[in-house]
Amino acid sequence: MRFSVIEKPPMRADTTFSCPSGRLAPSKPASVYHGHKMAQRKIVHVDMDAFYASVEQRDDPGLRGKPVVVAWRGKRSVVCAASYEARRFGVRSAMAASRAERLCPDAVFVPPDFARYRGVSRAVREIFLRHTDVVEPLSLDEAYLDVTVNKTGLATATKVACAIRQQIRDELHLTASAGVAPNKFLAKIASDWRKPDGLFVIQPSQVEDFLTPLPVERIPGVGKVTASKLARIAVRTVGDLRARSPAELQSLFGRYGLRLYELARGIDENPVVSERATKSISSEDTFEEDVLLEETESVIRRLAQHTWNSSRNEARTARTVVLKLKTDDFRILTRSLTPDAPPGSCEELTDIALSLRDRVQMGPGQKFRLVGVGLSNFRDPDLDPEPSLFPG
Ligand SMILES: [Mg+2]
Repeated sequence: MRFSVIEKPPMRADTTFSCPSGRLAPSKPASVYHGHKMAQRKIVHVDMDAFYASVEQRDDPGLRGKPVVVAWRGKRSVVCAASYEARRFGVRSAMAASRAERLCPDAVFVPPDFARYRGVSRAVREIFLRHTDVVEPLSLDEAYLDVTVNKTGLATATKVACAIRQQIRDELHLTASAGVAPNKFLAKIASDWRKPDGLFVIQPSQVEDFLTPLPVERIPGVGKVTASKLARIAVRTVGDLRARSPAELQSLFGRYGLRLYELARGIDENPVVSERATKSISSEDTFEEDVLLEETESVIRRLAQHTWNSSRNEARTARTVVLKLKTDDFRILTRSLTPDAPPGSCEELTDIALSLRDRVQMGPGQKFRLVGVGLSNFRDPDLDPEPSLFPG
């Protein structure tokens, strides 16, 4: 069984990234490629179903099957969440609580407990991080994941999304909907498509056909005002929108017009920006039968490849290579090396990991049950000692 481990420091508020030049780039991490060089990305948007209400129903069996409205009572209070039973009566999030009460007089009103929801949200995040380090939370109950390279070795993004939904169900007894697509814009639409408790995949080849009949209101950012402006030029669907020139859209909507032009074609290159910087990345394998040290080379090679692939999602560079071994009697030993120049390729990482194995001195016949290869000591590239351009 293989599993990967990532270690993260506490949350950081700022999400800026530093370029090797030392210039601040506000939104694009160095590991993301743009333009024609960009490989096909695999993005998952995960959205918990009626999150706060579902947590309440999970934790209080008396609430299950009932219309539950998470809100304080009171004239000025608004609905934080409504269970699907309450939604049948027309109750929605952000609606005035007094209106919800009129629509569904039998609803059980539960005051929100954000500390508890945050705890569950963290547990969901931990599940995401088993699959990728590139997780961008939008709120307590939604996140984008870039699984172009995933940590579990699952063959497709769809399988990753299935595994995540299953783990949320099994471990947290909650349901989530997921959308899988080549970018964030489409993944977000897709996660809504089979809600609740659904999965929807938009393959790159299906993007145009999927978008063409959609009403323009499905595009994020298109509200009532934009939609009625578009209706005035006879644009009601994304297909209609696609027929318009960028110049026309720009004259009507400014910069957002150009964004609309791209979205109508399913183009959205915004990267998934993870808010926390990784401290370490590692991959481990437990053997079915314990092995001798000299029998670990092929596994070390495979794990080094896996760790290297995961590290490619990082804007920062890892300085230290770690080899971890667990003996058949569960003793853990680690060997690490911080070379002068950080490992620059999978081959270098592999060579270092194998050389660390030579530093393990135990009796002949010692058997091992687990091996791991890790990278740690991540640094911003511009923290590397480099001659200053402007000395003094
Ligand atoms: Mg939700």
